[in-house]
Amino acid sequence: EHGEHELRSAVSLVGDETLVLITDRTRERRVEELRRNFVVNASHELKTPVTGIQSLAEALQVTIKRDPDRVPSLVNQLNGEAERLTRLVHDLLDLRRLEERGPLERVPVDLAELVRQVVVGQLARAEQREVEIGVDAPDRAFVAGVPGDLEVIVKNLVGNAVQYNRPGGSVDVSLVPEGGTYVLLVRDTGIGIPQQDLSRVFERFYRVDTARSRETGGTGLGLAIVRHAVERHGGSVRVESLLGEGTTFTVTIPVEPRG
Ligand code: ADP
Repeated sequence: EHGEHELRSAVSLVGDETLVLITDRTRERRVEELRRNFVVNASHELKTPVTGIQSLAEALQVTIKRDPDRVPSLVNQLNGEAERLTRLVHDLLDLRRLEERGPLERVPVDLAELVRQVVVGQLARAEQREVEIGVDAPDRAFVAGVPGDLEVIVKNLVGNAVQYNRPGGSVDVSLVPEGGTYVLLVRDTGIGIPQQDLSRVFERFYRVDTARSRETGGTGLGLAIVRHAVERHGGSVRVESLLGEGTTFTVTIPVEPRG
């Protein structure tokens, strides 16, 4: 898949037998490359708000003397950049935590209650953006999982559905039991995602419209976090979209962990 494979072989003598060991180093190399890219991308993303904070601080020094009326607006912008930095660090730590392997500390979590809570938490922002949110969930929907992880899945998907919407648009969140799993559907009538970007939106820092995402405070990490959290619970996530029509994310979470 990734071009030529790098093979390493080692020959050793065990007693009077010859043992030939061939290892495929391609995967190892690929992981290392991804890690390197991640550090480069993360540093770049962190630099943006830091540079913003520095130049705003410099501007403040001058403005305080020359144009005091402009100070509140600069302080506001300074706060905005600091918040962005906080969000980025928070998302990076979330990702780091979700990457950890090993058994999860699962407790019973009511997905239906969680979905309703997340939606209530998004209502103010949705109203601001003139987007309606509808919920269709059973009274209860218990799964064995990590509450924080499950919350981040729903929050990021519903948050995006509101964010990448338009005035008069809607978001529909539904939760349906299906053969030992719960299926969470987050459907929006928003801007949609171009076909050629669909397979990449779960990548770290990938954004369809970089300028727009940065402007709106996006980190580009939300869907990468969703994918990690879903997979840690033995579930799956997929996306369908029509440009200009809307997007649907489908998450499947098993009620009980397998194995
Ligand atoms: P961001 O912080 O930029 O929102 P995400 O990882 O959450 O990062 O999403 C990656 C990109 O996928 C976004 O920048 C946006 O371009 C696109 N995207 C995510 N959700 C939606 C959606 N519901 N509708 C349209 N585009 C979306």
